[in-house]
Formats: sequence, structure tokens, C-alpha cells
Amino acid sequence: MAMEFSKVAECYSKIESISSRNQMTGVLAEFLRKVPMDEIPCFVYLTQGKLRPDYEGVELGVAEKMALRALSAASGATAEKAREIYVKEGDIGSAAELLLGRRSQGTLYSEQLTLRRVYDSLMKVARHSGEGSVESKQKEIVSLLNDASPLEAKYIMRTVTGVLRLGLADYTVLDAAALAFLGDRKERPKVERAYNIHPDLGFVVQTVASKGAAGIQRIRVKVGVPIRPMLAERLDSAEAIMKKMGEKKVAAEYKLDGERLQIHKDGKTVVLFSRRLEVITSHYPDAVRLVQENIAPDAAILEAEVVAVNPDTGEYLPFQELMHRRRKYGVEEAMAQYPIALNFFDVLLEGTKDVTGEAYSARRKALSRVVKNTERTRLVPSLGSSRPQEIEDFMEEAISNGCEGLVVKDPGSPYRAGAREFAWIKLKREYRSELADTMDLAVIGAFHGKGRRTGSYGTYLLAAYDQERALYTSVAKVGTGFTDEDLSRIPKLLKPYGSKVRPADVEAKMEPDVWFRPHLVIEVIASELTLSPIHTAAIGRVRPGAGLSLRFPKFTGKVRDDKRGEDATTVAEILGMYNGQLKKVAGPR
Ligand code: ATP
Repeated sequence: MAMEFSKVAECYSKIESISSRNQMTGVLAEFLRKVPMDEIPCFVYLTQGKLRPDYEGVELGVAEKMALRALSAASGATAEKAREIYVKEGDIGSAAELLLGRRSQGTLYSEQLTLRRVYDSLMKVARHSGEGSVESKQKEIVSLLNDASPLEAKYIMRTVTGVLRLGLADYTVLDAAALAFLGDRKERPKVERAYNIHPDLGFVVQTVASKGAAGIQRIRVKVGVPIRPMLAERLDSAEAIMKKMGEKKVAAEYKLDGERLQIHKDGKTVVLFSRRLEVITSHYPDAVRLVQENIAPDAAILEAEVVAVNPDTGEYLPFQELMHRRRKYGVEEAMAQYPIALNFFDVLLEGTKDVTGEAYSARRKALSRVVKNTERTRLVPSLGSSRPQEIEDFMEEAISNGCEGLVVKDPGSPYRAGAREFAWIKLKREYRSELADTMDLAVIGAFHGKGRRTGSYGTYLLAAYDQERALYTSVAKVGTGFTDEDLSRIPKLLKPYGSKVRPADVEAKMEPDVWFRPHLVIEVIASELTLSPIHTAAIGRVRPGAGLSLRFPKFTGKVRDDKRGEDATTVAEILGMYNGQLKKVAGPR
């Protein structure tokens, strides 16, 4: 029996009404057991407001304008009325529910919607492109709305406009899958392991549902499917790092300031994934050629930092130079003007062999077998040492060679996909100065500029991500550090995310002139963290009624387009920094 969409909508509604993650997991697990096996992937993607895993790049994101037109067509309300209700409600879903609830009897929905039909229609909406696509998309949405109950319409409209946000993090879905099909949410690590090396939530949940624990254990890394990257923790001295790693010989490596690439080679085919696992092959045709020419095995998955280099000296150039590659046109010119070098630092698949389980020292050896050392392809410089002073000196050397610092690695550690742990530890100079650290924050609003900035934005309201509450909380208002180019570029980048009202997942006390849905992430540096009555990050966590904010924030020039809103610095990290800072300010006596 095909799953009715009304049941899905009821499940969503139930999930929305509970705030305990435990209960959410329970409700989801119970529901997952009822979904027919072949419909599990559709259901799972939809709970995330998606149609396919992110790395396949299937985007829904129907614009507000089209959504309102469809609503007005399906409900019989005028376009003005539909907009008025939307602005009042501040949410397209609630507006849809209200408007369709007022439909006259004659237009009451006729055919029961199924999960499959909703999914297939949304897929068509996403896939229509080119001439006439606006009309076709709208027709598809109106047809769904015509058969939808008000509650169903609420969730359909939130999904098509990309604002579903049930608060079901990937991990909650993995928990629920473990509970539903392995009998206990404590079994999540098994499901999670599979997800980390094959981050297709629909596929993983369906595999555990159909094949159980043994089935997901058989999932292996696969060329063409990106692996969630291993991430680094941070400490502020080589000595602290040595202590943490147990005073043994570690591998200290240059931390290059470029873009992380996960490189999948399958015969002559090369696919490049970004840090957030998007396909970015077209940005680097030269990297593709370098891989085809200099990587020995027929199949391989490798990680490298791509850095722009001075063609005359081979020196590393700053990160900004790479950004010329982001232009849609003119990649060829950028390639000639800003050549790149691939600096390899890991290997996950060598030929047919999955080497993620091997110790780093063995992987590094494999890497030197796999990569032909040329001017443009090389292994990241590395030093084996157990002496803090030697490591500090190596860091100075790295910095003077244009790097950010070091990544110190535990030579005994396997590749821990998706984990930020102390097997990799960043050591950057900034962390050693008392109160300076960079943060990656989501832009949630802006204030109009004056004087030289008339016509652009003068300052931006920035947010940290509160993972526990799935909310973006304001932490700083920043106006310095922007060049003229930034002042014209950033508003353009923000344009698609503009919002008339405060987005539902944003918490702020300030009222900027314009709100933005939290997508764009920029890097800022600040002198310290302070308690603030007007910001909401970590509100009440240090002192009742007060949040944390940045003192003297400054834009560093980096738009982190390799990060999503959710990858912004988290409230937990900021609290950690605040507490760390306190220790430092109090200092050893
Ligand atoms: P940051 O903002 O400091 O770049 P991040 O959140 O993007 O951090 P982290 O895991 O904290 O990611 O830092 C590791 C990043 O450093 C990697 O994503 C990679 O792009 C870069 N990097 C540069 N050199 C190395 C190296 N030798 N080994 C691993 N990562 C490296």
C-alpha cells in the first residue's frame, strides 16, 4: 500500500509540536516502520526538505513570488490577499494552510495525495529548466495544492520554498533508523559509520531497513560518492598538543590556506568535491588534468588542498586569489593568470582498496606511492617530531611560507570520516594572541549604509549557529574590513536570501533594515568576546538575560562559500572560547 501524504503531514505536525529530541526520535522511528521499503528514501529526503543527497545538487528553492502565485491560483484568493496573509503570518506554510482552509466547498480536494506523488511532482519542479520552466513548475505546484488538504499544503509549500525545517538533524534520523530497525538508538554508531562514508541519508536508512546491521556494515567507500571529511580540533600551543596526543612522535603538517578538495578518480573520469561535498569539478579543469596525469592508480579517492601559486616562483598565494575560480565565466583566463598546485594530504581509496581504516602513517606512505611529485602536484610538507619547540619552529616556517599554521596529526589514527576530534589538531598563530580568533558567521541581516556606503549596506548582523536549538543567534554587527569590491559583491551574494520578515530559525533582538535567511557565511576576526544585552548567542548561559557578542569585529575578506549556514561557528564553540578566554585573562599567577 502506497503511503498517503496526509499521514506524512500528520507525522510532521506531531514532530513540530515536540521539542524533546528523544520524543522526536521515537515518533520518527515509529513512522519509519510504516513506510513501504521502496518509499523510505523519498520520505527520508523529504523530512530534510530535500529530494536527493546534497552532493547530487538537486535544488528545489522555488522563489517566494512563484510560491505566492501558485497559492493564489489554488486558493482563489487574489495575489494581494495571498501576499498580505503571507506577510502577516511570516511563513509560507501557515499562509498556505489558512488560504486553502478558506477554499469554497466546490474546490475541495478530490484525489488523495500519496507520498510518492508529492515526491515525484517536487522532483519535476526541481528538474524543469529553461524556457517555459516557470509555468511548468507553477502548474505542477498548483496541481498538488488542488488535491492537498490545508495541512498537506502547509508542508508542501514549506518544502518547495526550501524552508521546511522540522528540526530533524541528520543525526536524529540516524537515531530513529537505529531505533526502528536495530531495536535501539544506542546502535546509531553503526548507522552513522555508514552515513559518514556514504552520506546519502535515504540510501543508508533504506539499507538498514532492508538489510539490517550486517547490510550497513557492508557499505564501503565508493568512487563517486563523497565521504564526509575528517575535521580538526584546535589547541593553542605545541605543548598542549603533545600532551593531548600522549607525548609521542606526531606528524606536523603545513596548514595551507586554499580550498579543500576531495578528489575521486575513476579511470579518466575525475570528480572534485568541496569541503561541503558539492561537485566543483568545473572550477578546476587544470586540477582534473593534473590528477589524470600524475595519479598512478586507475581508481583513487584523495584529499588535497588546492592553492593558487605564483607561476614564477612557485610560492603559495593567499586564499583570495583562488576565488577568481568562482566566476561562472572566464575559468580559462583565471587558470592562466592564477595557476594552482595540488597539495595532497590524505588517501581514502587506493585502487580497489578502502584504506580509511589504516593508520595515518600507512596512508601517508600510500600517498607517496600514489602521487607523482611534480611542480604542481606534491605531498603537503610534513615533519615527524615529538618536541614542542621543533613543532613551534615548523609552524613559524609554515607561516612565513604563506600558510595559516599547522595541522598536527596522530600517526596512529584511522580516517575518521565526519568527525572533529583530537586526532587532527590545528595550531594557528592567532590562537596564541590573547583574544584573537576567527569565526565563520552567518549573515542574518543588514543595515543601510550612509556616506560612502549609500546605496549599499553599511553593517551586517551576524549569527552563530545554536546546534541544540537549531537556531541562528545574533552575535555581532560588523561594518569594518570591507573593501569597495566587497561592498558591491556581498549584497549580490545575499540577494537570493532576502526576507521581508525575520526568518523562523533566526533569534535576534535587533531589527535590521533587511533580514536574510542564514545561508551566506563570512569570516570575521575580533579582539574578544563579551557579555551583551543586545545579542542572543548563548543567551542566559553565562548570565541571565545576557548573550555573548564580539568586541571590535572585523571582516577578514573571506566569504566562506565552502560553508553552509549550519557550518557557521556554533554557540557551543563560542561558549568554549569565552570560557577559554576567561582562563587566559585571569592567567596563571
Ligand atoms: P578553518 O576555518 O580553520 O579552515 P574548517 O572548519 O574549515 O577550519 P577544520 O577541520 O577546522 O576545517 O580545519 C581543517 C581544514 O584545513 C581542512 O578542511 C583543509 O581545508 C585545511 N587544510 C590545510 N592543510 C591541511 C592539512 N595538511 N591537513 C588537513 N587539512 C588541511
